[in-house]
Amino acid sequence: MTSPSPGRFAGHFEYGKPVAAPEGGIPYWDVFPYDGDVSVRALDAPVIPEPPRGGEGDRPCGECARDDEGYVWTDEHWRLDAGAGGDSLLNFMLTPRAHHDLGDLPADLVVGMGTTIQRVEAAIMGLGDIARVHVNRWGDGGSHLHWWFFARPEGLLQLRGTCLPLWGDVLPALPKETWDAAMTSVASHMTTTGGRPGGPVV
Ligand SMILES: [Zn+2]
Repeated sequence: MTSPSPGRFAGHFEYGKPVAAPEGGIPYWDVFPYDGDVSVRALDAPVIPEPPRGGEGDRPCGECARDDEGYVWTDEHWRLDAGAGGDSLLNFMLTPRAHHDLGDLPADLVVGMGTTIQRVEAAIMGLGDIARVHVNRWGDGGSHLHWWFFARPEGLLQLRGTCLPLWGDVLPALPKETWDAAMTSVASHMTTTGGRPGGPVV
């Protein structure tokens, strides 16, 4: 059943009315990729309960449906995927092999997750020409836990921080040979401490 009433952390917002752009807000930061005047969308009314994410209710989980083909690297518990060739910035996604979200991840996987995240960052940094790897977990689309890794190219200070994925949306694609070589290198780096390179992309 849908309730129009927002929860107590959102009851102070106005819905359906234009939101004033704050002076000095993110659109005015030098890391924001867009220029010119921007306006803020009106806030939609809350949807409670929220619709199921992928892998919840009767919605299938796309992650569970995949075999290891096309992954960059896999081991017994974890699989490392990457964005599509054609992306402008290197980005990777780490998922547990079994269907878990962060809240129900078994304790042994929680422990291994920290080590694996650290290994993924090291593998990406090992490519060289990367200044930072940003690690994010959102999970609004799919219920299968997935950690994002966004690599910021060295020297591109304008791409620092939370706007990095927005820049990834607007910049031109990496050359395919550069992308492919990076995938091979990351897989090789990961495999030195366990697991195996993923299968070929079909
Ligand atoms: Zn799943």
